[in-house]
Amino acid sequence: MKLLLHCCCAPCSTSCLPALRGEGIEPDLFWYNPNIHPYGEYSLRSDSLIKFADNENLKLKMIDEYDLRVFLDAVLPETGKRCQKCYSLRLEKAALAAAQDGYNAFTTTLLVSPYQDHDAIKRIGFDAAEKYGVEFLYRDFRPFFREGQQRARTAELYMQKYCGCIFSEEERFHQKGKKQLNINIDEHPKKEAVPANDDHIFQRLELITGKEGLEKLKNTKVLVFGLGGVGSWAAEALVRSGIGKIGIIDSDTICASNVNRQVEATTLTIGKSKVRVLKKRLLEINPACEITDWNELFCREKASVFDIASADYVIDAIDSLPHKLDLIETVCGAGVTLFSSMGMALKIDPSLIKTASFWKTTDCPLARLVRQGLRKRGFSSDFTVVYSAEKPLHAKDAASAPCEKPANGSVVTVTATAGLFLANLVLRDITGL
Ligand code: SF4
Repeated sequence: MKLLLHCCCAPCSTSCLPALRGEGIEPDLFWYNPNIHPYGEYSLRSDSLIKFADNENLKLKMIDEYDLRVFLDAVLPETGKRCQKCYSLRLEKAALAAAQDGYNAFTTTLLVSPYQDHDAIKRIGFDAAEKYGVEFLYRDFRPFFREGQQRARTAELYMQKYCGCIFSEEERFHQKGKKQLNINIDEHPKKEAVPANDDHIFQRLELITGKEGLEKLKNTKVLVFGLGGVGSWAAEALVRSGIGKIGIIDSDTICASNVNRQVEATTLTIGKSKVRVLKKRLLEINPACEITDWNELFCREKASVFDIASADYVIDAIDSLPHKLDLIETVCGAGVTLFSSMGMALKIDPSLIKTASFWKTTDCPLARLVRQGLRKRGFSSDFTVVYSAEKPLHAKDAASAPCEKPANGSVVTVTATAGLFLANLVLRDITGL
């Protein structure tokens, strides 16, 4: 196959090349990256790719234009959605070059990064391919990321410190500020984290599940609706349990009153989108996990967005009653296995958390309301729930938090336990343990 490989930088190209060569493909390289600023940084990266092409004896085609204005015209004023526009600019140019120069297909090294929006790159790649009448060779190169970065260091290729554009450089500046703040608070700052050897992160799990079980977990897709005190822990436990594909869905931003019980909530993440913060954390745990995030609230009208029928399991950790009813009906209607969390507010004893058939729960006010709501809708199917058999405590007065929703007291020891129970239901169902 005659393949044109769009290269975002030399280290990512180092990661992708062995995978392509493993398939017997010797690509030609292509450089067009108007997203890299300022010019000094642009030169360092383009020179480094020239060095990589020389080292590997590969042909390199360069559109060596420092197109800062083209980039800004594409991404302004909506800088919040800039990455997708940035991918389009680069992939369309690659598709056009591939079509004009008689290549069978093109692909991109952007597909190796666990920090980019992988699904968006895939979609935009296929769109560009259709537009220019050339094939897009989609590959998930992410499992090769860390090893490639190591090889690039050894080859003394230039290793960039930020994604590329001035906005990503600004974000790095703010991150540095936060790190500095941590160092001031912590008199014994921790050493830089050492990336794990990806082959070994599930070693202890495999001793329980065996190779076959681990493989099944890797091939399983789970959707987690609601990333509060229950759902966020369920998502974390699923990724730590080797689930290969996960969708996380929540429309909220993090607020101060979430910090006592939600994985993604810390004093440094207040004001940020829950799904974005959690996705970043989950990718740090397992960069090879395919994670799709939706900053959305589930409702029946939007159900098709989440492609529920393609999932093996759905975890319902939604607390809003109408949306919970919609989700239960939709998932059961699609014939997908549902594990649903009932109410964990105003409970203090994690040892009273149980799993049961939905219709057999006791002492759970939320389950009672869900039963009433579902009966009214004529729903009678069964599914498994995690609930607390503890009688609810009486709420005490507390200073009101600047969250919009009416608040109920809850503790992490209970909510996290419920989340772990939900993840464990998935784990045991898949492995049969
Ligand atoms: S952060 Fe990276 S991918 Fe997003 S716009 Fe900037 S350079 Fe492009």
